[in-house]
Amino acid sequence: MPVRGKAEAVPSVSLRPETCIVCGGALEPEAGVAARCRRCGLLHNLGTHALDYRDGGGQAAPDAGKMHWRLVNARRRFALIAPFLRPSHRTFVDIGCGSGEMLIAARAYGLAPVGFDTNRPLIAWLRTRIDEPVFDTPFDALLIPDREQDAGAGRVFSLAHVIEHLDAPLELVSRVRAAMRPGDLLFIEVPLATGRSFRTLGYRWNMWNPEHVALYTLPALDALAERVGLRVLSRGTRIFARGSHSGSTRLALLGRQPVAALRAALARDHLSIADRLIADYGFVVLA
Ligand SMILES: [Zn+2]
Repeated sequence: MPVRGKAEAVPSVSLRPETCIVCGGALEPEAGVAARCRRCGLLHNLGTHALDYRDGGGQAAPDAGKMHWRLVNARRRFALIAPFLRPSHRTFVDIGCGSGEMLIAARAYGLAPVGFDTNRPLIAWLRTRIDEPVFDTPFDALLIPDREQDAGAGRVFSLAHVIEHLDAPLELVSRVRAAMRPGDLLFIEVPLATGRSFRTLGYRWNMWNPEHVALYTLPALDALAERVGLRVLSRGTRIFARGSHSGSTRLALLGRQPVAALRAALARDHLSIADRLIADYGFVVLA
């Protein structure tokens, strides 16, 4: 199957998988527009069409307000990776780096950032803003600069909101896996079919769109890790930082689900009540 998406845009035809594109499980048709994996729950979108991001696609350069929240969001993602960072980690490789907020956030951890994104106008814009290596090509491990001559230097890879664009996610994740050395990390974040937005809005949710080949589940992320031979160090749910910080959302959740909200508030980590209870995105940290 051809590969397409934010990081790997190649024209493709509508998705008609015979088995789950992540775990190989049997599929069950749903609502005439989707097919759900009986084993891992991955929800395949049968109405996808190729979107070529090379000339921009839907991903335009953000204004200052958008960029502010994207940076806050990137910092919150790094807080999820941070417990697993070691002094030997020197490089951060963001595949599908978009407007570059993860690259900027990486610097606070002493990581030298490298970005890949096939969206050429966005990479051209990014190059005017940051002085770091960013490539307007699909991921290629050979392009990662070996700034640290120390063979023990580790790398952290990220695929945030990339693999839901791919009809062969295992192909890209396997290539990243092949580039990983012992001790390297891989962070993956995806929209979920199990979050509150999909449960309430269903196929009207804006994450259900022709660019998204699938909505994931946490078991699907586990299956993906297993198929490429990586260990799950951490997994969880979250939402975009703006909603995650919202006081009115927090109050609404406390009113609607007081016990679950209080339990979420007591958890000692970087996830908010909204991250846990709305749970529209799923993430894993793999090694
Ligand atoms: Zn599956």
